[in-house]
Amino acid sequence: MTGLSKTSNNLVGAINELFTGRSKIDEELYEELEEILITADVGVETTMELVERLRTEVKQQKIKEPQHLQPILSEIIAEMMDGAGEEGLRLKENELTVILFVGVNGVGKTTTIGKLAHRFKNEGKKVVLAAGDTFRAGAIDQLETWGQRVGVDVIKHQAGADPAAVIYDGIQAAKSRSADILLCDTAGRLQNKVNLMEELKKVFRVIRREVPDGPHEVLLVLDATTGQNALLQAKQFGEAVDVSGIVLTKLDGTAKGGIVIAISNELKIPVKLVGLGEKADDLQDFDKEQFLHALFK
Ligand code: GDP
Repeated sequence: MTGLSKTSNNLVGAINELFTGRSKIDEELYEELEEILITADVGVETTMELVERLRTEVKQQKIKEPQHLQPILSEIIAEMMDGAGEEGLRLKENELTVILFVGVNGVGKTTTIGKLAHRFKNEGKKVVLAAGDTFRAGAIDQLETWGQRVGVDVIKHQAGADPAAVIYDGIQAAKSRSADILLCDTAGRLQNKVNLMEELKKVFRVIRREVPDGPHEVLLVLDATTGQNALLQAKQFGEAVDVSGIVLTKLDGTAKGGIVIAISNELKIPVKLVGLGEKADDLQDFDKEQFLHALFK
């Protein structure tokens, strides 16, 4: 996962330096480790938990050498990320898959939909996009541009229209065209949180009614460069809809990928996709093993 190398270089470099540069495991070492983790966006809560567990292991296993800490730390992180659930997108076979995208403005929702449409199209799947962000000026045009670029149909209404009605039409269009995948954009204004959350619930209900086991994925898009703010957004959206996975965008723009650990540990939601740039190809499946390997190579 080349785009994550920034993250891993930074975090692994600092941890390596700490563990190899010290002669004993003392308070100072733990404090410095805390600082490194917090700087890498692992977050206070997860950092404290991590360091506490490391202390316990060190005591239990009677470890004296700082050089022996790394595999233990790696294992603790792996365990903390384990509870987040399955990675990879849940797709229906020979049936319509409906994926709903939620997240605040500017995090990269529309771009991610474009990238995914590109991926599915390349896999030979029939894709329809529904322009459910009827609130932000330009969101509909932007989705249409992606649709044209990638060569997939976009279902839209006018700006200001009811998003649930757009999604309803999207579902009907996807069904009548025998599409494999419907990707639904939604609005992300947080200025009026109550309305937004009500709107999302309504969209959710419409999908449920038309596609009884849908939506098959509710992907919350978060901007990795916003650090702990992303975690806060995840908590807010989680109260309104059942988020099944996270898309972490702009990992190319930050050396602070520690947010992945915090999300998995604190929210117990799997990171499913990562965005590593603005182009159609800059989207990858998140792979925990690869992430950990990069972190502690
Ligand atoms: P939306 O408001 O959530 O739909 O956000 P957009 O899809 O419009 O994205 C906002 C900005 O972020 C755009 O300029 C995108 O090109 C950019 N963007 C989205 N994903 C990524 C990413 O993974 N990496 C980088 N560097 N930029 C991204």
